[in-house]
Amino acid sequence: MTSNPYPLGLRLHGRRVVVVGGGAVATRRVPALLDAGADVLLVAPELTPALRARADAGRLHWVPRRFAPEDLDGAWLVQVAIDDPIAAASVSALAAERRIFCVRADDRSAATAWTPAVTRHGPVTVAVLGGGDPRRAMTVRDAIRELLAVRLSPAAATPTPDRSATSTPDGPGAVLTPDWPGAAALNPDGVGAAATGGGRIGRVALVGSGPGDPELITVRGWRLLTEADVVVADRLVPGLLLDELRPDVELVDASKIPYGPSRAQEEINQILVDRALAGAFVVRLKGGDPYVFGRGGEELLACAAAGVPVTVVPGVTSSIAAPAAAGIPVTHRGVAHEFTVVSGHLAPDAPASLVRWDALAGLRGTLVILMGLKNLAAISRTLIAHGRPPQTPAAVVQEATTGAQRVLRSTLDAVAADVLAADLRPPAVVVVGDVVHALDG
Ligand code: SAH
Repeated sequence: MTSNPYPLGLRLHGRRVVVVGGGAVATRRVPALLDAGADVLLVAPELTPALRARADAGRLHWVPRRFAPEDLDGAWLVQVAIDDPIAAASVSALAAERRIFCVRADDRSAATAWTPAVTRHGPVTVAVLGGGDPRRAMTVRDAIRELLAVRLSPAAATPTPDRSATSTPDGPGAVLTPDWPGAAALNPDGVGAAATGGGRIGRVALVGSGPGDPELITVRGWRLLTEADVVVADRLVPGLLLDELRPDVELVDASKIPYGPSRAQEEINQILVDRALAGAFVVRLKGGDPYVFGRGGEELLACAAAGVPVTVVPGVTSSIAAPAAAGIPVTHRGVAHEFTVVSGHLAPDAPASLVRWDALAGLRGTLVILMGLKNLAAISRTLIAHGRPPQTPAAVVQEATTGAQRVLRSTLDAVAADVLAADLRPPAVVVVGDVVHALDG
């Protein structure tokens, strides 16, 4: 067959796609079909554990037997993912008889449709066909993916606002489509196509930047950052991420806002709302995860109250990543079956403290204390006074996942003094529990 394939974007939502075979090929093919909303009928006597999990979760229909002709009833597309060439040929012959396109893993030349190598960037899907050579398709796809990554990287972009990464052939409203299903609930007016004074309003994304290493932001967080008009950043966000912003992006350094902490928060809320109401796409970049001692909830409520659509992108929190960076798993089989994350910013005896330190002292598991250096002496004293053994291992990780990371290992009774002696400073996470030595050789 020498003629060129004709590329199409199949809109499979709610449409029956039959996958024959339950092995490695099917495991790779099924997720994209489900992502497209296809009604997947999987015919195979046995499934890989990954497919089994999807079947058990009700995401697809599994017929636990070999293929039978009636399986094709109502199908729009067939994917043959079995090695047996005779069985595959018979499926594909039946499909051809019924004018159903058929992809064949075993014999591309006999197939009536090919699956391309794909890369996705937000709403953009790039599909590459390699003229029957899947490896060539993948090589070209990888090159395009790299180009798109560079293109979307603010450092490499031209100074003129370049919004092609968010271009929406189906109309401008799609720009405001919530980035994940949960966002819709926060945005009851639908996709946020509301207008103020004739102009369209923008939106806000609360994005977790991760603990410090710029590579620990999520893929979605990074993409939104590259699309932002305004970035409002905390002190703890990785500087390198900001270094790479386009020159035309307005960068608001939230840590430089004066006034007291509550006044500063109001000010930040106001900046988010004002810029979004003026039509900007605002990324509020926050250290770690936005909802872990990050006041993300307050910002979300402020936006919601002003009718501004908000998306929240979770981040890798330092409460888990900082211990991990020091070789400490927050749970470990046979060592700790729980971990508790607590803020130490108030002293245990402070009237405003919401933490039951006496109760925490009775737990055996891992205690992770954020913002706890200043009050560490009082905290460890309180934990010991209420029953946590003084010799419980403790560790402190300063500036985890950055080049300046420092780790100190100690015990609960000595850790506060050791921190002073070593001159450790915030930001630091304190870990208390036997997990501190769980991975020691
Ligand atoms: N939302 C953040 C936490 C904000 S509170 C998160 O999920 O990580 C700020 C505290 O987080 C700091 O005082 C410190 O205890 C901790 N922290 C943040 N980044 C850190 C890092 N790279 N290393 C150690 N601790 C860190």
